[in-house]
Amino acid sequence: MTLRVSALDGRVSITAPSHVPMRDIEAFVLEKEAWLQDKVSAMPEPVPVTFYTAIPIHGMLHDIVPFGGNRMEISKNHLYIPEKIKLPNAITVAFLKILARDQIIQEADFYALKLGLPYAKISLRDVKSRWGSCNDQGAMMFSWRLIMAPPKVLTYVVAHEVAHLRHMNHSNQFWNELRSLLGEYREEKQWLRENGATLHKYKFKD
Ligand SMILES: [Zn+2]
Repeated sequence: MTLRVSALDGRVSITAPSHVPMRDIEAFVLEKEAWLQDKVSAMPEPVPVTFYTAIPIHGMLHDIVPFGGNRMEISKNHLYIPEKIKLPNAITVAFLKILARDQIIQEADFYALKLGLPYAKISLRDVKSRWGSCNDQGAMMFSWRLIMAPPKVLTYVVAHEVAHLRHMNHSNQFWNELRSLLGEYREEKQWLRENGATLHKYKFKD
């Protein structure tokens, strides 16, 4: 039997052969209680986004600051939002989606050209289960939260999905294709594994 806690959303799942009686499964779970507690308490605390919250953009923390201007502005460590805005969370997420869209399209165009295969379309979503996907029609989906990650991590995810335009699997040919498109990607993959969940702790909805 195996017990797993998703690093992305904290969901607990248990896998057991069908012949194992329910009471044995329950006993197994009870036995693992301390381990489960540790896992769940290690999940990142949710951070509601509002004025003066610091959120990562391009992998660097930016303070959300109200100012007297009429449009949004971004500097190295600040995101300036007009002070009259009532819902800084909603305007911030809209701004992040625009940034994400620009960056993802730019990278996708670059790597699709390099690969020599076009993609059909790109859509952005906010799903916890995956950072990107690509179907056999060439439609790609990305999490807009990638704009919060270091730029190389976003690039890795985009190049990864572009490589799926040629190989719809994770075979050796796929990884070789990705390596020839992008070069070494181990650190970026590891960053997502270790830190990806932190991008989901920022709550943009009331
Ligand atoms: Zn893949």
